[in-house]
Amino acid sequence: MLNRRVSFAVLNPATEETIAELDQAGVEETDAAVARAKEAFPAWRAVAPADRARLLRRLATLVEEHGEELAGIESRNVGKPIGGARAEVAMVAAVFHFYAGAVEKQYGETIPVGGGIDMTFREPLGVVGLIVPWNFPLNIASWKLGPALACANTVVLKPAELTPLSALRLEELILEAGIPEGVVNVLAGPGRVVGQRLVEHPDVAKIGFTGSTEVGRSVMAGAAATIKRVTLELGGKSANVVFADADLEKAAAAAPYAVFDNAGQDCCARSRILVQKSVHDEFLDYLVEATRRVKVGDPQLEETEMGPLISAAHRETVASFVDGEPLFRGDVPEGRGFWYPCTIIEASNDDRIAREEVFGPVAAVIPFDDEAEAIRIANDTPYGLSGSIWTRDGARALRVTRALETGVLSINSNSSVRPTTPFGGFKQSGFGRELGMHGLAGYSEVKNVYYATED
Ligand code: NAD
Repeated sequence: MLNRRVSFAVLNPATEETIAELDQAGVEETDAAVARAKEAFPAWRAVAPADRARLLRRLATLVEEHGEELAGIESRNVGKPIGGARAEVAMVAAVFHFYAGAVEKQYGETIPVGGGIDMTFREPLGVVGLIVPWNFPLNIASWKLGPALACANTVVLKPAELTPLSALRLEELILEAGIPEGVVNVLAGPGRVVGQRLVEHPDVAKIGFTGSTEVGRSVMAGAAATIKRVTLELGGKSANVVFADADLEKAAAAAPYAVFDNAGQDCCARSRILVQKSVHDEFLDYLVEATRRVKVGDPQLEETEMGPLISAAHRETVASFVDGEPLFRGDVPEGRGFWYPCTIIEASNDDRIAREEVFGPVAAVIPFDDEAEAIRIANDTPYGLSGSIWTRDGARALRVTRALETGVLSINSNSSVRPTTPFGGFKQSGFGRELGMHGLAGYSEVKNVYYATED
């Protein structure tokens, strides 16, 4: 049989233009990448921690130096507003700085036992497969690469097929930083081929996966055959709970950005806006006004706040959630590009719009009577990723915080993600934590050693 090269086109979703043609990796290339990573592992794990820290620090600096270039790639490939893309690249550098600092701070323990000394070590896993989605391609890759490399693993990284460009550029910067060849291998190819092969491969010790709950399920099932470790960062349907005693104007000004940022293609999107009935109408007026001000348009313009969706197929999926006349529908640019307007819908928590992840700029506003009902509705979802509570009552904020089944929560804020703090889901939003010192736990194994000291 002839060996045939398969290529695929990478588009700019704002213009529908092809911005790259790439060779598509298949099973053979995946096996070769795993073999390279396996070969590179012994030397990489032998690098002294201080030197590994220095290499990661150098990578962080290179990301900063190439910030404008990387932000440009991400903006064109994902349709992200350039300002947001710059902030994401700054976070990538911050993540590598953080994990550079963490390399030398992973201490073991000594544990009191009789007859000897007991101690623990943190050992690398070996080759890890990192599979990431298209919504924050470089950012989410860094959340996994940082701790994986800090813990002395070698890596095969598979970006989403729609958005492979920033990861391919990062691979070059990784080599430029002095991280040895074979330590990080980036493969552009389909999930059902490259991703699945990584999940099945006997030489891959762990899969760090971010993506949909549906694919997460198949990753978890596939990992069972080789008892692979998995970290799953999956979908969400988070609640933004606005109590009557909140600063309503502030809550309403923030709420659109909690849904429409990244055109709603955000696992943390607070796409269920729960509003206490006594302030429902007043809040909606503020919310519609604030949403009207969201600047939708050319991602290359500094002032743009929302770009297009990632693809025509995804736009169809998003549109399928909206029937009838919504409470509010914004404007979008005419002409080419996969645009979808900011949309606000009044809903009940039983409606499809409130149950399923839309992953587009569509918010469902759901009324509630009191604190108990707010908690019940917020938790009435299979997901548990993020959420916000808006109230001026500190005791209520803490009561509700403890009651909500979610991994990440903010009080009087939309903020979910920082390089230094743990991020991850409850329930079907996945398990394991990324970022901060918690992120390291997913990329090493605890080894316990007993040393007998008595004859
Ligand atoms: P997806 O699940 O379709 O794809 C994610 C990645 O998995 C891609 O690289 C894809 O190629 C790969 N893949 C697909 N099929 C596979 C298979 N059978 N085996 C192995 N890998 C496979 O998700 P997406 O559409 O790229 O991204 C959107 C989803 O990601 C949303 O559900 C969103 O909530 C979720 N997400 C979660 C987080 C989080 O941290 N919890 C962050 C961002 C996105």
